[in-house]
Amino acid sequence: MSSMRRAKCRVCDKDSALNQDELVHPHGPHGSRCRGSHRPPAGEPPCAFCGRMVGRVAWPEVYDPDRPHASTYVCYDPEHQREARLWVKTVTGHEGVFYGRETAVGGAR
Ligand SMILES: [Zn+2]
Ligand SMILES: [Zn+2]
Repeated sequence: MSSMRRAKCRVCDKDSALNQDELVHPHGPHGSRCRGSHRPPAGEPPCAFCGRMVGRVAWPEVYDPDRPHASTYVCYDPEHQREARLWVKTVTGHEGVFYGRETAVGGAR
């Protein structure tokens, strides 16, 4: 039985199979796989399975029930942090801001 879900690759926009972890199946030519391989699909925060989170990208910094809010943890990869800022923008209409672990963030989630 095949229950494999499909979703769009966040990098090349190709309709791709998802593996058990809901990550995009490796695709693209051998030796130069698409950078979207083993990554969450388009529309998802970029760093769900990266490990080594260094902070989070959010907007607004402090949760306000009257405004759209998005927040996601990100790894050290600057490219992923850029994707996270854009992901926050798709949710809130405002580009996300990076807050490192050392930045005190008053209990906002
Ligand atoms: Zn791809
Ligand atoms: Zn990442």
